[in-house]
Amino acid sequence: MIDKDHIPSRDDDDDDIDGYTKIDRYNPKLIENLSANYLNVLKQIGEDPEREGLLKTPERIAKAMLYLTHGYDLDAQNILNSAMFKEEYSQMVIVKDIEVYSMCEHHMLPFFGKAHIAYIPNGYVVGLSKIPRVVDAFARRLQVQERLTNQIRDCIQETLNPIGVGVVIECRHLCMSMRGVQKQNSVTTTSAFTGEFLKEKTRTEFLNLISSKLS
Ligand SMILES: [Zn+2]
Repeated sequence: MIDKDHIPSRDDDDDDIDGYTKIDRYNPKLIENLSANYLNVLKQIGEDPEREGLLKTPERIAKAMLYLTHGYDLDAQNILNSAMFKEEYSQMVIVKDIEVYSMCEHHMLPFFGKAHIAYIPNGYVVGLSKIPRVVDAFARRLQVQERLTNQIRDCIQETLNPIGVGVVIECRHLCMSMRGVQKQNSVTTTSAFTGEFLKEKTRTEFLNLISSKLS
């Protein structure tokens, strides 16, 4: 049953939930409420939630959903601030083929693919492993690909204050391929730039570098 006066949040309780302790810690009351809702969903789509294979499904979906949206608990600017270093390097830094897993906010179906991110330092560089973590912080929420692209660009621009930022994201959307138009192989590409990357020469260099294969 859902207690209408108190909707639990992720950090109401510090108890560990089995299997998810490494990833995050969720409030058991929230899992219980979400599970009750998913049980209703199962009934309403015509399933029998009492059959063996579905007995633990509401709880599994609840835990999966909390994991798939754990970006709400992350602060992308903090992630970058925690690993910024003074450095005179002033050439383009590119991290390419970063895996992206997100969910469209219109259908709550996954979209996934790759992000390619570049910046030109202005006195500061950031630990390279932090860039994929920034992608995750924004991707692990309900999203649209266009906003995801802009949020990553803006976060890097505002935190690192580089000479320019370039972000390109290529994703397949299950809401396109599993339903409706069923264009199985279409890929959506979005991009966002600041500063030096607004110039065609820099942007072309970036796009050439991310499309070249090293291996
Ligand atoms: Zn969608």
